[in-house]
Amino acid sequence: MEACKTPVGRFAPTPSGRMHLGNVFAALIAWLSVKSRNGSFVLRMEDLDVQRTSEEFASQLRDDLRWLGLSWDLETPAQSTRSAVYQRYWEQLRDADLLYPCYCTRSQLHSVNAPHLSDGTYVYPGTCRNLSDAQKSAFQRAPAWRVKVPDKDYCLTDLCQGVFSQNLSRDCGDFVVQRADGVFVYQLAVTVDDGEAGVTEVVRGVDLLGSAPRQMYLQELFGFPHPQYGHIPLLVAPDGRRLSKRDKDLDLGTLRLHKKPEEIIGCLAHSCGLLEAYQPISAAELAGDFSWKKLKMDNIKLQIQG
Ligand code: GLU
Repeated sequence: MEACKTPVGRFAPTPSGRMHLGNVFAALIAWLSVKSRNGSFVLRMEDLDVQRTSEEFASQLRDDLRWLGLSWDLETPAQSTRSAVYQRYWEQLRDADLLYPCYCTRSQLHSVNAPHLSDGTYVYPGTCRNLSDAQKSAFQRAPAWRVKVPDKDYCLTDLCQGVFSQNLSRDCGDFVVQRADGVFVYQLAVTVDDGEAGVTEVVRGVDLLGSAPRQMYLQELFGFPHPQYGHIPLLVAPDGRRLSKRDKDLDLGTLRLHKKPEEIIGCLAHSCGLLEAYQPISAAELAGDFSWKKLKMDNIKLQIQG
C-alpha cells in the first residue's frame, strides 16, 4: 500500500493591513484541514506589492495568528525577497519559447471588447503574440511578459466548490507573468512558492477560484504536482455585505480589545457550520472533529455573539 503523504497546507496573506475576520476564516479552515490530519502548516507573506505591504503589518499578522492559536510549522521567505528565484522559472518559460513581450497599455486592455474574469482581468486577445522585431523595437519602452496558454481545459475538483473547469485560451488568454517594471506577478510567485514548499493543499477564498487553472498550467510547466484545492465561501457581514478592510470593527485590532481568541474561533465555527451551537472553543479543540462535509457551501453570514 502506498504510504499516505503528510498533508502540507498554507496561509499566504498579503500584509497590507490588519487581519479581518475573512482572513481569519481562511487561515482557520486551512489550518484545521491539515491539523486534523496531523499535517504541517506553512506561512508565507505575499508582499509583491511593496507599496501596499509592510513588515510592520507582517509582524502584526504573525502576532494575531499566534494569539488565535493558529501556529505554523514553517515560515517561508516573503515574496519580495525571491525575485532571483522567480527569474529562474521565468527563464525556463522563455527557453521553452512560451513567453512574449506585451506592450499593450492599460487603456488598450480595458477598451478590448472582451468578457472579463472574476478577478477583473480581461480575456487577452493575443494582440502582441506575433509582433515582428521591428514592431517591438518601435515601442521604445519596457514590456510586460505574457505566457502563451494552450487551448486546453484545466479541471479541478474543489473541496468546497465541486468540479470547476476553465479553458485557458477561451476563458483567460495569455497572461502576464512579469510586469513592465520587472515585478513578477502573483500567478507565477504563488505557483513557485507553493510548489517549492511542497504544499499539497491550497485553501483560500472563493474569489481566487478563477486563478487556479492558471496556476495548474504553470505547475505543469514547472513540474510541480497539482495540490488539492479548497476555495471557501465568502464571509459576509450580518447584513449581507462582503467584509473588507474598511470594516474596522471586524478587524483584529478592534476585536482583540474585547474578545477572547476562543470567542472569535467559536463564532466563525458556528457561522460556517462546524459547530451546531455557539460556544467559545480553541482552534486545537476544533481540529479534533473537523470535516469539510460540515462546512456551508454558500456565502457565510457572520453570526456575532454579544
Ligand atoms: N495573498 C492572497 C491574499 O491575501 C492569497 C493568495 C492565495 O492564497 O493564493 O488574498
